Amino acid sequence: MQHTTFADASASWEEAKFVVAGIPFDRTTSFRPGARFGPDSIRQHSWNFESYDLETGVDLAEVPIHDLGNASEFGNATDMVNAVREEIRPVYAAGKIPIILGGDHACSPPCVEAYPDGGSLGVLYIDAHMDFRSSYLGDPRSHACSSRRIVEKLGARNVVVLGVRSVSREELDDNQAIGMSFVTAHEVAQEGIEASVQRALNMLKTDRIYISLDIDAIDPSYAAGTGTPEPFGLTPRDVKYAIGQAAPRLAGMDIMEVSPHYDNGNTSALAARLAREAIVRHVQAHPPR
Ligand code: MN
Ligand code: MN
Repeated sequence: MQHTTFADASASWEEAKFVVAGIPFDRTTSFRPGARFGPDSIRQHSWNFESYDLETGVDLAEVPIHDLGNASEFGNATDMVNAVREEIRPVYAAGKIPIILGGDHACSPPCVEAYPDGGSLGVLYIDAHMDFRSSYLGDPRSHACSSRRIVEKLGARNVVVLGVRSVSREELDDNQAIGMSFVTAHEVAQEGIEASVQRALNMLKTDRIYISLDIDAIDPSYAAGTGTPEPFGLTPRDVKYAIGQAAPRLAGMDIMEVSPHYDNGNTSALAARLAREAIVRHVQAHPPR
């Protein structure tokens, strides 16, 4: 059966606490395309799971979730950025938590930029790549520049990258001057995920946290369905843990770079499950009265 909404997203906009939106845009992909098919594939796989979550006791059937569907087609990345910002702004304004399914990672900065000015927002940026280029192939809105754009919006102290293991010397030099924090995948392997996540979250002094998950943060042996696979990655359980720790302060979340045609569906299933993890962990921390 073909599902057009995220699982258990049966609430109206008015009653919803969580709002799912898809951005089927992958025009800044640099290696192999296909993330435009991510949102619908993640939705499709989300129906595989029981609505009841064993660990938290939260039943997603009782959580008010609304699915806005997919944003319409765009021209270039700048068009996409402007349209997405306008689409996501009302979600925050209504006190709801957006769960955004991409799309390449160029789709993340507008979702952060839509957050109300003056709000205390940090970003946990989970990615194999630093994405800290000023511009890439002539486009400052490329997916290779997304953490840089977010730092320009929030300030370097309010962004932490977790799981990075691929960076250019130029990005490192730039970051030396700008000062965005990062915890590498190699450090996670040495320190363990609990200490690493604690270290990353301690750096974010903000009231709320937006989680931007580039699925390529997870090792390609688990998440092959992505555009730029990078070995020596985090495990699905590592990322599940990081999401669970950040979720009490959750302001919003995105899952980007799922490119479903490069595997048999495992990556989409993992993405759907991690979106649900953010929701159930947030609800567990803030049970409805
Ligand atoms: Mn990325
Ligand atoms: Mn990446």
